Formats: sequence, structure tokens, C-alpha cells
Amino acid sequence: MARCLLLEKSNVKEFLDSFDTILTDCDGVLWEGAADYPIPGVPETIQQLKKMGKRVFYVSNNSTKTRAEYVVKCQKLQYDTTEEEVVGSAYATAQYVKHTLGYKGKVYIIGSSGIAGEFDAAGIPHFGVGEDGWNGRGLRDLLDIKIDPEVKCVVVGFDLHFNYVKLFTAQQYLSDPECLFIATNTDSALPAGGGGILPGTGAIVSAVEFSTGRQATVCGKPHNPLGDILVQQHGINPKRTIMIGDRLDTDMALAHNCGMRGLLVLTGFTKLEDARRLTASNSIAHQKQIPHYYLPSLVDLGKLITE
Ligand code: PLP
Ligand code: CA
Repeated sequence: MARCLLLEKSNVKEFLDSFDTILTDCDGVLWEGAADYPIPGVPETIQQLKKMGKRVFYVSNNSTKTRAEYVVKCQKLQYDTTEEEVVGSAYATAQYVKHTLGYKGKVYIIGSSGIAGEFDAAGIPHFGVGEDGWNGRGLRDLLDIKIDPEVKCVVVGFDLHFNYVKLFTAQQYLSDPECLFIATNTDSALPAGGGGILPGTGAIVSAVEFSTGRQATVCGKPHNPLGDILVQQHGINPKRTIMIGDRLDTDMALAHNCGMRGLLVLTGFTKLEDARRLTASNSIAHQKQIPHYYLPSLVDLGKLITE
């Protein structure tokens, strides 16, 4: 069982020898919220790990960006990367729909341009991203909305324009039991920077689930589609992989679900007491979120390496 051990001088060598691949969460590990600067010292730590021969992949539940847009953000914040090293939840979702489900038909999307971009790249036709064009007409007019009979898949992600019209439209498509229902991720909250919290994609997915009585298949962390992509496309060996993250229910749970080990850092969403509370719980779901290790910041790993 994972025990949430502090990484320190006495166990860091054993830790470093135990993996050759790193999956790192982005927000809360590499940078904070919308900040356009990195968490101090972390770019240098990632460089140190790469120099030691570790492969690094960037994995994020943020569905608002394509892989190409992540590369731009990473480069700006001093993380040297390529598209192949980035797996965002929008990319994971488009790949899952295309390759795992083999669906290439039309998709109704509640989401933003990152999802649209990844479905374009996968060659899957879609609509729904952006404002709904409803212009505040009345409730009765909803029934005039044209439902496209070719749509057999609804994808839900983060959408600043999410509203009742979009909820109604998704419900219409999903009333067909053959229509696929896929979500990018179900994060409960988003860090807004400066300690603020915003409702996350999970709140939008829950609204669609509640109104349809159906449950979405989720592609992002902690669910397997994201991990499967890394195994299938990059041949990573989960037993020799460490997942670094700031959340228990997404990052640390992904580590457990995919048979990796998890390193929690305290520069984001989670406080040490939250992780410690899990170690005292008998619930299997809680035990599957316990970090194997923790550090105040990823920069502390860099310090342990140079000591
Ligand atoms: N979803 C959205 C819309 C976000 O903006 C963020 C963080 O910025 C996340 C999810 C969480 O991303 P990560 O998995 O990199 O922490
Ligand atoms: Ca995070």
C-alpha cells in the first residue's frame, strides 16, 4: 500500500533508480493557474531529470488547449517540449473516440477550441463549440432546435458558454441510447490563482449526466484512456513510470489505476493533511489516491539530486 512518504536524502536514490519515465501534471506542478511564469526552479529540475536520461511527458486535464498550444505555453514558461510529449484531455478524448471506439461520424461538442482543434486534427466532423446563437428566445422555442440525425456522439468538456440551450441540445442527442457520451475530464474545481477556486468541468458533465440519467465515459486523469495512449503510442512501462501531480483524485488516482507510482507536490490543489487523511481511511477508493511519495515542491527533488 502507498504510504505518502516524504522524499529525502535517505530514499531519493532508490526513488530515482525506480523509474525511467515521468508523467507530470501541468497546472499546480509546473505553473500556477493562469500565471505566465513557472514555479521557481521547476524548469531546472525537469532539465536535471532529462539529463539523467528520464523521459518526460506532460499530462493535463485542461481541455481548452490543443497539444500544439501546450507546446507554445510550455516553451514560454521554460519547459522545452514537443507535441509528442504532451497528452491533454482534449487530445486523449479525440484519440479515444477515433481509435478505441472507431467512431468517425459527427460529434456534438460542449467545450472550447482545444477540443475542436483536436477533433479537427483527428479528421472527425463536429459542431457546438462557441456561443449557442440562441439570443435569449423563449423556452418554447427550444423545441425548434434542429437535431442532426447524423450525430451519434456527444463530447463534454470545459465550456465558458455552457448554458441551458446546450444542456437541452445534449439531452436531445443522448435520449438515443446508441449515442455515445464522452467527457474530457471531471475535475471538481479549477484553481483560479491567488487561492481562488472556480467550478471545474465535472460540474458541467454532472449537469448533462443528471438531465439524461446517463453516465459519461471519461478520458482524462484518473481514467485509463489517457494512460493507455502513453502505453500504446509511446510504449511506456507503467512499472517504471512515476506520475507527479498536485491532486489526489486525478493525478494520484491515475498512478494507481495504471499501475504507476505517484509523487504528490504541495504547490497546487492539495494540502498534506488531505493526503494524510486518506492514509487513515479504510475505503478502497481513498486508498487508491494515496501518494507513494510527497514533496513540498518539485524543486525540492532538484535540490536532493544536487546535494
Ligand atoms: N481544466 C481546465 C479548464 C483548466 O483550466 C485546468 C487548469 O488550468 C485544469 C483542468 C487542470 O489542469 P491540470 O491537469 O494541468 O492540473
Ligand atoms: Ca494539476
